[in-house]
Amino acid sequence: MKIIDIIKSDVPSLSFEVFPPKNSDSMESVKNATEQIATLKPSFMSVTYGAGGGTSEFTLDIAKNLQNKFDVTALAHLTCVNSTREEVRQRLKMLKENGIENILALRGDITPENKDRTKWDYHYANQLIEEIKSEYNFCIGGACYPEGHPESLNQHDDIENLKRKVEAGCDFLTTQMFFDNNLLYNFIYKIREAGINVPIIAGIMPVTNGKQIKRSCALSGSALPQRFKTIVDRYADNPEAMKQAGIAYATEQIIDLYANGINAVHVYSMNKFDVANKIRENISEIIK
Ligand code: FAD
Repeated sequence: MKIIDIIKSDVPSLSFEVFPPKNSDSMESVKNATEQIATLKPSFMSVTYGAGGGTSEFTLDIAKNLQNKFDVTALAHLTCVNSTREEVRQRLKMLKENGIENILALRGDITPENKDRTKWDYHYANQLIEEIKSEYNFCIGGACYPEGHPESLNQHDDIENLKRKVEAGCDFLTTQMFFDNNLLYNFIYKIREAGINVPIIAGIMPVTNGKQIKRSCALSGSALPQRFKTIVDRYADNPEAMKQAGIAYATEQIIDLYANGINAVHVYSMNKFDVANKIRENISEIIK
């Protein structure tokens, strides 16, 4: 099924993100974790992709398994940094042949290992989207950043670039994690004003590791509100308490989003069944 048809319906959607193993040794445990999450019957599941292409086959393996064994629609992420046109075309062909209908088309992060841009056939996600559109009818998602992408000089430029990406053929956008819903509401107001009208899926990260989150926020450019910083400061050294507080905070965000008419929420559950399950339980009367 195409994700655009899922999120365009009036029924609110809840989806989960998982990541593939880095090597075949951990394939079994990762597969088990993703299968457990699939039993929660999410609206769809997304499977991330290593920026360097290292886990490309595993992304497809996991996505295919979710669709074929659990009938859960899969959204396969695909990055283009460090890839040649030929490699990208090959991956698209594989996705198509294996029944994947949805792609989250991304540039990927620039890291010290992939900084040599002379070897790149694609520099921005809009070019990857054009490539996909030129030959296939995948449902295509793109990433968006309520607080601006860290490389952008300002939000205005970032939204202009986002518009270019949507015009290249994005059917929907999924947001970077954010911890203050007002940031999303303001962002949606601005992008609608800029003429971007595709559906937005709100990305929510339940923080279960207080020590990691400060580093992740520094990398992603997401701000931690004082209310949440206080929780992290208090519980970062107590993993079980941190997990409970992080799930409660994410649940509150999710309920507020649905109550304010955001009908599609994507949870960065990162292969943690217990976290996905708890969130599902917490909103069992809100999402049937
Ligand atoms: P782009 O849309 O290309 O934007 C990158 C930067 O360039 C922005 O600052 C933008 O304003 C600017 N820009 C865009 N187009 C142009 C243009 N034509 N000219 C000039 N400037 C331009 N990474 C992974 O490696 N694997 C994953 O699976 C993955 N999943 C993700 C899922 C989501 C929902 C999100 C939000 C991010 C994900 N990422 C993933 C991280 C992502 O790859 C990085 O954030 C990356 O730095 C940017 O990717 P993008 O597709 O948003 O890039």
